[in-house]
Amino acid sequence: MTFANRLAATAAALTLVAGLGLGAAPAQAAPVTAPAMPATALPGTALPAQVPASSAVVSTARKPAPRIPRNPRKADVLVNRNYPLVPKGFTPRLVRVPGTSFRLQAPAATAYRTMVAAARKDGVRIRLTSAYRSYATQRSLMTSYTRAYGSRYARSVVAPAGTSEHQTGLAVDVGAPRSWMARHAATYGFILRYPKGQERVTGYRYEPWHYRYLGPAAAKRYTASKARTLEAYYRATSRPAAPKAAASKQATRRTTANVNLRRGAGTSHRIITTVRRGSTVRLTGQRSGVWNQVRYGSRTGWMSSRYLR
Ligand SMILES: [Zn+2]
Repeated sequence: MTFANRLAATAAALTLVAGLGLGAAPAQAAPVTAPAMPATALPGTALPAQVPASSAVVSTARKPAPRIPRNPRKADVLVNRNYPLVPKGFTPRLVRVPGTSFRLQAPAATAYRTMVAAARKDGVRIRLTSAYRSYATQRSLMTSYTRAYGSRYARSVVAPAGTSEHQTGLAVDVGAPRSWMARHAATYGFILRYPKGQERVTGYRYEPWHYRYLGPAAAKRYTASKARTLEAYYRATSRPAAPKAAASKQATRRTTANVNLRRGAGTSHRIITTVRRGSTVRLTGQRSGVWNQVRYGSRTGWMSSRYLR
């Protein structure tokens, strides 16, 4: 194969991956400047049930973190490399999108169907090319790309399993014509998720076909906010925080009560262990509302910041 052919083949591979809505990673992350916080209700802010409320300590020393929705059963969830699905193998409740072989969460499927019907009235035919993809599907894509191109290249073009929006059942890839979608999708609750020029914020190259269901009200707020990306809207990043920064801070906290360490941010998540009052835990830097991801011994899990000092 000539060099030109190799280039063409690589480009074709990229197009294929892009068509699957996997996106490609930029060389490095850029700081995210953000508009005002959205008024979004958050999951997982309830008190852990086993700790009396009187033992709660509210920290006033640190600025409150932006409230980033992490519940993949809700349409406002943020999912990217820095905010993986919790648990990573999360499977939503799915329904088949009528007239296709694809599946979505029910509200997204209904909205999609309404949108397609509206487009048809305008003489526009929207075609679904991808929707829900499982953790296993995403993982096997990563495996086949690693085999074909090596792990470094594979990681640069394929979203790691557990971090793809498609696994939420809230994302769609649509065929042409995209101009109608750009103009009307938000009315039906869908936003363009990886816009042009925002590669360093989203972590993905421009994907004019990838739309994410947020719900009509949230999509309207999002549009009104003038945020270019969901990351900017939530004041979140798409790239993992530099481990160096977390380590250099030596961010540790003491538990002010016996606190449950959970698999995810919220009391609905399974308890890994109960950490005794007065124990030291290390913050990983990931937060979701009042929930912090922490390391305790060899374990990593989530606990409410109400019981950390
Ligand atoms: Zn996609």
